[in-house]
Amino acid sequence: MISNNVKEKLVAIVTKENFDDSKIERLSYSYDSTPNLQALPDAVISPRNTKEVSEIVKICNEHKIPIVPRGSGTNLCGGTCPTEGGLVLLFKHMNKILELDEENLTITVQPGVITIEIANAVESKGLFYPPDPGSMRVSAIAGNISENSGGLRGLKYGVTRDYVIGLEVVLPNGDIMRTGGKLAKDVAGYDLTRLMVGSEGTLGVITEATLKLIPMPETKKTMLALYEDLESAARSVSKIIANKIIPITLEFLDQPTLKVVEDYAQIGLPTDAKAVLLIEQDGTLEVVNRDLEKIIEVCKQEGAVSVQVAQSKEEAEKLTTARRTALSALARLKPTTILEDATVPRSEIARMVSAINEIALKYKLDICTFGHAGDGNLHPTCPTDSRNHEEMEKVEMAFAEIFEKAIEFGGTITGEHGVGVVKAPYLELKLGKEGIAVMKAIKQALDPNNIMNPGKVFAKDSRKRVVVSK
Ligand SMILES: Cc1cc2nc3c(=O)[nH]c(=O)nc-3n(C[C@H](O)[C@H](O)[C@H](O)COP(=O)(O)OP(=O)(O)OC[C@H]3O[C@@H](n4cnc5c(N)ncnc54)[C@H](O)[C@@H]3O)c2cc1C
Repeated sequence: MISNNVKEKLVAIVTKENFDDSKIERLSYSYDSTPNLQALPDAVISPRNTKEVSEIVKICNEHKIPIVPRGSGTNLCGGTCPTEGGLVLLFKHMNKILELDEENLTITVQPGVITIEIANAVESKGLFYPPDPGSMRVSAIAGNISENSGGLRGLKYGVTRDYVIGLEVVLPNGDIMRTGGKLAKDVAGYDLTRLMVGSEGTLGVITEATLKLIPMPETKKTMLALYEDLESAARSVSKIIANKIIPITLEFLDQPTLKVVEDYAQIGLPTDAKAVLLIEQDGTLEVVNRDLEKIIEVCKQEGAVSVQVAQSKEEAEKLTTARRTALSALARLKPTTILEDATVPRSEIARMVSAINEIALKYKLDICTFGHAGDGNLHPTCPTDSRNHEEMEKVEMAFAEIFEKAIEFGGTITGEHGVGVVKAPYLELKLGKEGIAVMKAIKQALDPNNIMNPGKVFAKDSRKRVVVSK
């Protein structure tokens, strides 16, 4: 609960228009894109600049009020669900591109800028900001940074982390810290920029970011390889890379996903194929043609029944857009969509896909799988209904087994969606007790009052989604 006295102080900082504790506003920000998770915040606040953020944080720290920074709420791990109440912090006023520096190849932005606006702004100057999460038309840059989001171009160009070179952060005591800068090289002290990237709003509030840009590649080509079995497709992924080709995109869709996507996108996808790889390469025309030729050869060797190269930019765009709609398309099937992002070394993709299918069979569940195969990052997705408690229990047990399999194959419990609330019970599987202890020490040092996004990343036993019995 926020007392009247504290409310008055907060209103004095942001004005009445930017502080809302009405039931309707609190309800609107009680959930995010994560299924089955809802909790009311005490109020929603929209600061207009860094100074206001700092003043808000100081008051919250003094009165031990939780702060949940929120971009567009598209995270899939319960990262912005205000499970402990408190203030939801919005950045609707802090949504501007501050500077595009063509000499240093950087762009400096406020936290609320929508990802695609960055991509579009730099493209018009012949520059490229590669991180492209499927949600990029909606997600905000500070959300991407805080989850260290990946995307379809991650295989060749890396993830958000690889492009964040400077940050302004309001620390949990209200101090304003600057890290990095427009620097190609900088080894002054601990890498605090990287510490903040992927910290899921638990270590401070990002109020500005400087991002690295690269020159726009000369050309890009897109192709689809169709398979009659999953394993051949998965094998092709490893073989393409073993042939020392790193495509920009190497995405995998299984047949159930393909059918649903085609039904949604209606672009003539081959729904009779058991699996499809969407492959893209960019660079100079000579390199792209050479790589595509080799990729086609590898796919055929590994059992692709057909390979189709997009004949125009529009056709290519349709294919990648179709892939980006996979989650939205699957979400139409049933009231609840549980999507995970278990990740394995790419050499283990075939085994992981088979393991997911076996687990689905064991629990008699429909699990569709698609994802960034080149990164080993799979999205096993289960359309279900949270009102069916018996089925939900099976879903939980199936996913717990999927995470354990991923770890067994040398992988991780999340490749890009973050830990938040829903993966917290599994984090120790990946980090061990020692890793958790180091993370807790960092959290305690920066945020001793645990005001920054409390209840996220670190598991509370009571919130354990399932207990897996072996
Ligand atoms: C259809 C769909 C497709 C998706 N595709 C992908 C994909 O391809 N790759 C991928 O990685 N993810 C994907 N996601 C997940 C999600 O979109 C990403 O995690 C995205 O980066 C979240 O951005 P957001 O602005 O919605 O952040 P939010 O969901 O609002 O917040 C995410 C986290 O960031 C923190 N945060 C937000 N702003 C700040 C700030 N200023 N300071 C400190 N912390 C802050 C929040 O507290 C929270 O922990 C997808 C989600 C959907 C719904």
